[in-house]
Order: sequence, then structure tokens, then C-alpha cells
Amino acid sequence: MQLADRYGRVATDLRVSLTDRCNLRCQYCMPAEGLDWMADDETLTDEEVARLIGIAVTRLGVKDVRFTGGEPLLRKGLPRIVAATRLLGARTSLTTNGLGLRHLAGPLAKAGLDRVNVSLDTIDAATYTGITRRDRLTDVIAGLEAAAEAGLKPVKVNAVLLRGVNDHQAPELLKWCLARGYELRFIEQMPLDAQHGWQRDAMITADETLELLSESHRLTALDGRGSAPAERFLVDDGPQVIGIIGSVTRPFCGDCNRVRLTADGQVRNCLFAREESDLRSAMRAGATDVELAERWVIAMASKRPGHGIDDPTFLQPARPMSAIGG
Ligand code: SAM
Ligand code: SF4
Repeated sequence: MQLADRYGRVATDLRVSLTDRCNLRCQYCMPAEGLDWMADDETLTDEEVARLIGIAVTRLGVKDVRFTGGEPLLRKGLPRIVAATRLLGARTSLTTNGLGLRHLAGPLAKAGLDRVNVSLDTIDAATYTGITRRDRLTDVIAGLEAAAEAGLKPVKVNAVLLRGVNDHQAPELLKWCLARGYELRFIEQMPLDAQHGWQRDAMITADETLELLSESHRLTALDGRGSAPAERFLVDDGPQVIGIIGSVTRPFCGDCNRVRLTADGQVRNCLFAREESDLRSAMRAGATDVELAERWVIAMASKRPGHGIDDPTFLQPARPMSAIGG
């Protein structure tokens, strides 16, 4: 069995959300007061998550597993879940805001984590506090250092640029990352915030990002984006590179190889899907591994050809990014 859809795409990259909770309140993600968090009994246990990952890897051809959230470092069982995934032979990675990574990078590397992406939109302390609504920049920087020291390489930094907030700081952030050997990736802001505040003209496009960076650096496009969302560019003739993820203006849906599992055990065939397939209820009702795998295959078959953000009929999914897993 494999996770194929009607358009010939096969999902081999599983994004697993381990919690919808977070210790930051990034403006483009959630409101200042937070959200109504998922109830504990709705959330998959460590054993349930490990079982579903096991089905994906051993029966459905998944090769890469990325842990995300919400903030995945808030999940106590994370090292155990990573270790169980590594034992299956999958490559493992983590997307995190970096808070707490200072202490967890070592144990996670030991558990078999391969790589880490840390979200950091600015290295200006006041701007950081303004965007995330928390004064935690020094913790993120310490987390990045710990990740590099623990060998979770290449350490990647994810940044979202907001017009009039941190867009003018993009070259400074790039210089900072280059000096430390971190690979920076800019992600276009998507309509996935809980407060539905996304506006197309407030989004800094991939083209604008390239223009901003070109003022201080020579960027040369590299070939071979494949199913990777990031277009990569050599910086000043290399060897270091940056990535630009034009999720909205340069969608990569045609080559998408991703599938998502939410913290409450719902399969989503797309970040923007409006339907989910409930593996948790089936599992708790006693479904076998084969039955769960069959449900998963059916859920993937109906994946739409693209996210349709530019379509006049586009509807933002009911779940925000933090509850889907970015
Ligand atoms: N809390 C972790 C973090 O921030 O890295 C993991 C979850 S977060 C939802 C995953 C990624 O999605 C982060 O890099 C974040 O910057 C990005 N993100 C969140 N909301 C976004 C939005 N509306 N548009 C684009 N990227 C977004
Ligand atoms: Fe939390 Fe990540 Fe959302 Fe920021 S982007 S509020 S760190 S889940």
C-alpha cells in the first residue's frame, strides 16, 4: 500500500503534530489570549502516536517524519516518540520555536533526531517580542546554539516576514544566520491564522524577499526543487544557501509529497484540506493496523490538486496552523 492520490502524487513525508499548545503567540499564528486547547483525552497518547507512525512507515511507504505543533517541545514524550520512529528506520526532524531546545537538543539527538528547523523571524529583541508577544529571544538563540552543538545539522531557521514589522530586517537576519552556519528559509505568510487576519497585500511575497536580500547579497538560483517547497539560492557564490518558500505565489502543490497527522489523530491530506479522516476513533474502537492503513489510503485519494488560495471560492480551513501542525 502507498499514500497515492488521483493526480499521481505519493506521500512519503509525514508531519506529525504532537500538541496544539504553544508558549509563544506569534501574530500570524494565534491571538494574544491563545486558543481553546485540545482536551487531554482527545490528544493521542505517546503509544497511539507511535502506533500510527509505525503504520505509516512500515505499511504505507513513509520515509520522513517531522514533528511539529503547536510547540512540539512541550510534549513530554517527545524523545520517546523520536526514538520509536528512528527504530522504524525513518528520517526524523523537528520544527520548533526553540524555547527549551537549549536543554532538549542533546537528549533529542541521542534519541535519534536527525535535523531541526527553528523559527526565528528577527534578531532584534524588541521586534521579536512584538511578533511573538513574549520576551524570549535569548532562549531561541541558546536553543539554536545547542542544536548545532548536538549535531542536529543542517540547522535551519524559518522566518516569516511581515510588512512594516520585520521585512526591512531580512538582510540583517541573513547575515546573522550566515555567520553561524544556519540555513535561513523565508516562508510566505499563509491564511492559516486562528484570527483570520491574513491579507494578501500585507504578505511579503517571495519576489519581494529576493529583492530585499539582493540589495546586500548576490543570489544565484539552484536547480532541483523537486518535491521540496523551498527554492534554494547560493549566497554570494556559496557555499551557503538560503531557501524561499513561496507557498502562496509559487505553490508547489503539483509535487507535494506530504501528509499530516494532527495531535488528536486526524489525517489531513493537505494543510488547506477541509476534510479530515478520524484515525483516533477507529483506533480506540479496536481497528487493526491493516484497517487503519486502509483508512489512511482512502483519506489520501481525495487530495485536491492545489490549495486554491487564489481561487475566489477559497475557504480557510477551520483549524488554524497551530492545531494542524505547520
Ligand atoms: N511552534 C513551532 C514553530 O513555530 O516552529 C512549530 C509549529 S509552527 C505552526 C510551524 C511553522 O509555521 C513555523 O515556522 C511558523 O513560523 C510557521 N507559520 C505559522 N503560521 C504561519 C502562517 N500563517 N503563514 C506561514 N507560516 C506560518
Ligand atoms: Fe507557536 Fe509556532 Fe504558532 Fe508561533 S508559529 S504561535 S511558535 S505554534
